[in-house]
Amino acid sequence: MSKTLTYAAQNASDTLKPYAIERRAPNADDVQIEILYCGVCHSDLHTARNEWQNTLFPSVPGHEIVGRVSAVGSAVTRFKVGDLAGVGCMVDSCQHCAPCAEGDEQYCENGFTGTYNGPVFGGENTYGGYSERIVVKEAFVLRISHDEGDLAAVAPLLCAGITTYSPLSHWKVGPGKKVGIVGLGGLGHMGVKIAAAMGAHVVLFTTSPNKREDGLRLGAKEVVVSKDPEQMQAHSNSLDFILNTVAAQHDLDPFLNLLKRDGTMTLVGAPEHPHPAPTVFNLIFKRRSLAGSLIGGIRETQEMLDFCATHNLVSDIEMIDIQSINEAYERMLKSDVKYRFVIDMASLKKDAAAA
Ligand code: NAP
Ligand code: ZN
Repeated sequence: MSKTLTYAAQNASDTLKPYAIERRAPNADDVQIEILYCGVCHSDLHTARNEWQNTLFPSVPGHEIVGRVSAVGSAVTRFKVGDLAGVGCMVDSCQHCAPCAEGDEQYCENGFTGTYNGPVFGGENTYGGYSERIVVKEAFVLRISHDEGDLAAVAPLLCAGITTYSPLSHWKVGPGKKVGIVGLGGLGHMGVKIAAAMGAHVVLFTTSPNKREDGLRLGAKEVVVSKDPEQMQAHSNSLDFILNTVAAQHDLDPFLNLLKRDGTMTLVGAPEHPHPAPTVFNLIFKRRSLAGSLIGGIRETQEMLDFCATHNLVSDIEMIDIQSINEAYERMLKSDVKYRFVIDMASLKKDAAAA
């Protein structure tokens, strides 16, 4: 066991504060990683504040982890001490059901173990990346091939990257396709970059008029302020696919109206309160689909990391110290982040020194 300093929420209304946990010593098939950077996902906030009403406390969020391997178990073959490594949203799954066999561990029929708040079907709580180190089964550890100088900006790929890459790939986004990305936050800005790199004609839908220039810089060909009905009308019945990343409850109908016949809108945003049910006629008259998608499998996460390394894609980040995490959450709620906070985990040493 190793004593490990983290930042944790002790209950839904408290701020995150320093908290010591024990990590297991690496088993034969484990990799121990000293965490260098951890991205801040809106799911961290939903969880720390128990907005999905399933949080186990104390809660140590963080599932966009990059770091350096500091120990490996005797059966580990793909990593050695000193290697860079990444950990995303999952640290285990049953490994024998049909989805696991097909590399879709996120849809494990027996419940995957989340990097934090893990035991969906019982077992001990898991603690995420707002911590000094983590111990993870080798099968759930990702290889990083980006330049070392980009490491902090690579961290958000482990959730924001894969959560957008997986549906864009599943729904065959590419050249000749007109694709909408709704919401320019952590997920949305990766969605714009990845869909553009896949060759699609990308239209960004944002509630924030001041994000227009950024949207174009990130790879969108057009930017639409979704609160303006006239701008929305100009795109009606024209989109092949829409990826909706919005973190709050909203009306889906104005977006469904943008899909052409047989088009699909896939929801990845997971708001605290449900969206109002869409109008059935908006679906049936053009055989449109409304779908959902959850992160991505481990093999696909590696594929995404390699795709991003090849296309020189990383996240646009604002680096923070862990001591600023509560303020960062408040700013995220105001959509005031360009476009992902990443924690420099070296800042935890300040608390270690004070302890
Ligand atoms: P984020 O950085 O906070 O971005 C969300 C964006 O949604 C904002 O930047 C904003 O974009 C837009 N938005 C926020 N409030 C809105 C409102 N009231 N009405 C309309 N638009 C609003 O969050 P994120 O980290 O990208 O996460 C987005 C959502 O995805 C969260 O709910 C998160 O839990 C979920 N998530 C799901 C998965 C999955 O596997 N499905 C994985 C990770 C995260 P504009 O300013 O451009 O409008
Ligand atoms: Zn996430």
